[in-house]
Amino acid sequence: MKGHESKMARMEDILNLPVQDPPYTEFSAAHINWVKVEGGRQGGDDIALIPFSRVEDFVKGESGNADCPANFRVESRRKRPEGSLNKPRVDGYLEYTLYWCSYGPEDYRDIEPQIGEKTSTKPSSGKGSRPGRRHMMRGCICHFTVKRLYTRPQLALIIYNQRSHVDKSGAPCHGILDHESVGTRAMYAPRISEELRQKVMSLLHVGISLDAIVQHHMEEVQRHGGPHSRDDFLTRNDVRNMERLIKNSPHELHLDDRCSVKMWVQRHHKHVFYFQESCGCEGFVLGVQTDWQLQQMLRYGHGGFIVSHLVSGSKKFKVELVIVFGF
Ligand SMILES: [Zn+2]
Repeated sequence: MKGHESKMARMEDILNLPVQDPPYTEFSAAHINWVKVEGGRQGGDDIALIPFSRVEDFVKGESGNADCPANFRVESRRKRPEGSLNKPRVDGYLEYTLYWCSYGPEDYRDIEPQIGEKTSTKPSSGKGSRPGRRHMMRGCICHFTVKRLYTRPQLALIIYNQRSHVDKSGAPCHGILDHESVGTRAMYAPRISEELRQKVMSLLHVGISLDAIVQHHMEEVQRHGGPHSRDDFLTRNDVRNMERLIKNSPHELHLDDRCSVKMWVQRHHKHVFYFQESCGCEGFVLGVQTDWQLQQMLRYGHGGFIVSHLVSGSKKFKVELVIVFGF
């Protein structure tokens, strides 16, 4: 009977919760007022309602936690077709997604020194078989669930099952609170910044080799006195992944050039701000703006416009030289 009562209380809580929509492009758990509900593995989950359209903004904001930067990935996802339930529960889901901190749940800290050698220790199966991520798994149990509510699909119920980035014993296992991770990659975000990614991509685009990029980067890090951020831990793998990305994005998508251009525009609509298929003659007009150009425009454009000129492949400069005029 007692269990039934606590369930009822939980249902009422969900119905009475205000929908929170923080006025930031990205927001985290710190921007939300949480309500504790009974149950949950740790003896009480935190719950909150946000618009479903803002789930991605929350996941991004939560990944950028200053003390424990992480990357929340989808650990499992379930969906139900609309109209499939006759009597849906108040917290019944249309879509259920479990997000888990990228530093868990498995713990490979003990086998870390063996990395580089051929190790025969294999993860059991399923969830554990993540060879690419094994090196960074540190047993973190931080995770939350997002339910797109069946009866109100425009809303998402966030159930924060474990808010702290700790291991099973309750001790911090990555980020600045974890003493063991000081001076290692685990202290910082799991991925390099967008800024460095764009920089490396542009170097690869102009034909600078992987070795030269890594070498130059290591020299830079040494010059400023060792690693201070995830970007300083740029690895050959990071660069190789980007190189592969460039190789796998062919520009001749179709034998017919016109179809090829149309397909490219469809795939890169985020960067295309103007496209006119045919302009009287055989040609076409295509206006492209990269993320980097957009950022510079917002930063230096002062609400007007900017003019930029790019020099690449020059013998004088090892990297691309961009001249930007802001008006
Ligand atoms: Zn974590």
